[in-house]
Amino acid sequence: MFIAHFGVGFAGKKFSKSASLGTYFMAAQWVDLIWPILVLLGIEKVEIEPGISSVTPLDFTYYPFTHSLAGVLIWAILFGTIYYYIKQNSKVSIILGLLVLSHWFLDLLVHIPDLPIFPGLELKVGLGLWNSLVTTLIIEGLVFIVGLYLYLSSTKAKNKTGTFALWGLVVFLGAIYISNLFGPPPPSAEAIGIVGNAQWLIVLWGYWIDRNRE
Ligand SMILES: [Zn+2]
Repeated sequence: MFIAHFGVGFAGKKFSKSASLGTYFMAAQWVDLIWPILVLLGIEKVEIEPGISSVTPLDFTYYPFTHSLAGVLIWAILFGTIYYYIKQNSKVSIILGLLVLSHWFLDLLVHIPDLPIFPGLELKVGLGLWNSLVTTLIIEGLVFIVGLYLYLSSTKAKNKTGTFALWGLVVFLGAIYISNLFGPPPPSAEAIGIVGNAQWLIVLWGYWIDRNRE
């Protein structure tokens, strides 16, 4: 999953305006933001296996720290707790924790059974919507559009930048998503790690949008 996580991030703003859109993006996409770092460090493993599902050539062979249910639960608690220490806002802390956790359940819908429940345990789950490109596009597109709608219904642009930065990001995310789906497979795990780290720019883009909307 890719754009659906950002859809959930957009939706965060509906529940509380106290945190920036960038923070909501960071929470919803947290485990995919740290995954590329762990891949580059060789701690988690990904292989390129074209045809493994209809949607992605990536075979997530080992990623218990970022993508096991237990791991995501710990990240969710840590994320919410650290935010609480910094901002003393319990409502937003809970929203952020739930956003971190939402990542695993959205991934559960689409991934083929490669998501561990607990590090070290053989059991891996995934409902496998990735076996159908059309179903994946519908589900992921729907989550993204609903999230964007909730965001639009709870914020408005303060200036022209607030409009263009937002729609620029929507187009940009759509373009990356399409090129991931229909482009050639990545050349190596290292390349995936490097490109994956560029997602931090989307988080920064979220902060930029937020400053220009109210
Ligand atoms: Zn993920």
